[in-house]
Amino acid sequence: MQRTLPKYPPHGALRNELKAAVQAYLDGAPHDSPGGWRIFRKSLVIGGIAVGSYLLLLLVATAWWQAIPLSVVLAFALAGIGFNIMHDGGHGSYASHRAGNRMAAMTLDILGGSSYVWRFKHNFLHHSYPNVAGVDDDLEAGALLRLSPHQPRMRIHRFQHWYAWLLYGALAVKWHVVDDYRDVITGRVAGHRMPRPRGWDLVQFLAGKLIFISWAFVIPIWIHGVWLTLAFYLLCFGMMGVIMAAVFQLAHCVEGADQFDCPESTERLEHDWAEQQLATTVNFARGSRLLTWYLGGLNYQVEHHLFPKISHVHYPAVAEVVREVCLRHHVAYREHVTLWDALTAHARHLRDMGHASAVAASAAAA
Ligand SMILES: [Zn+2]
Repeated sequence: MQRTLPKYPPHGALRNELKAAVQAYLDGAPHDSPGGWRIFRKSLVIGGIAVGSYLLLLLVATAWWQAIPLSVVLAFALAGIGFNIMHDGGHGSYASHRAGNRMAAMTLDILGGSSYVWRFKHNFLHHSYPNVAGVDDDLEAGALLRLSPHQPRMRIHRFQHWYAWLLYGALAVKWHVVDDYRDVITGRVAGHRMPRPRGWDLVQFLAGKLIFISWAFVIPIWIHGVWLTLAFYLLCFGMMGVIMAAVFQLAHCVEGADQFDCPESTERLEHDWAEQQLATTVNFARGSRLLTWYLGGLNYQVEHHLFPKISHVHYPAVAEVVREVCLRHHVAYREHVTLWDALTAHARHLRDMGHASAVAASAAAA
């Protein structure tokens, strides 16, 4: 069944003031546009670690105590490419030219995903309607995970705060084997019609899959055989799945972020666009320079959701401007101070969503 997309009320004063204040900051401060040398230097470091650890794993490692740490490093480096290069490229905030952004976004195709499907599910469905059940694809994690009080509850969900991490480990593998192919063949994502890729988009989709299968399977199997290749594929991409899922979940599926149901087609959403982003998005560990560097600003998701076309290297400064405007408008600026606070808030959210009272609470609120 084709689902309809909800409508927002007209923009309020908050959004206009946020836009003006951030633009005034960007105009007044000397800064690199979009991310300047800092983003290219970072890309070289993370890309170099990824290629280096892959080659060492493929050609040099001969013992488990060499191969396992190299797989861990490779998993962190591949996730780092996703956070810092692919994600910015997909939003058009990596480079000043369209071609540069497209190439950055295409790193996802090389990692076994599809930048074409990502544009639809992440840029459109997720960024337009965060935490709106039935529309935001990030909430559609399969029947075993209940991430919103507006999704059906099963008895097994009461254990989901324990087993969720295992499912996160399967995220990248599911992406490689099922999701992109299913979405492109059916032309649908989370019940919403997605135009199927044609022309160069289709060539890029297929070429990406071929390149990924070559470096992740064909070459390693040729050198190390099937079983060893499969074991290290599962180890590396299982870990990458946990890292990526955890980072995505800590922004929206945590205690402190609001969850919404998709309104009837005749009604509008409760908040305007900017208020919706602020009600559903939570920053974490803003004080950690290491996490801010590695996560590509994904710990500054409030700023990312309000200004996805600004390079993540500017988020720490932009955050101060956003916080000030929120304070003036008496709108909550949501954040968890440390990574641990955010992880435990996610665990509590999973536990609450798995509990029967979450159904009663959502019904009472409706
Ligand atoms: Zn994004």
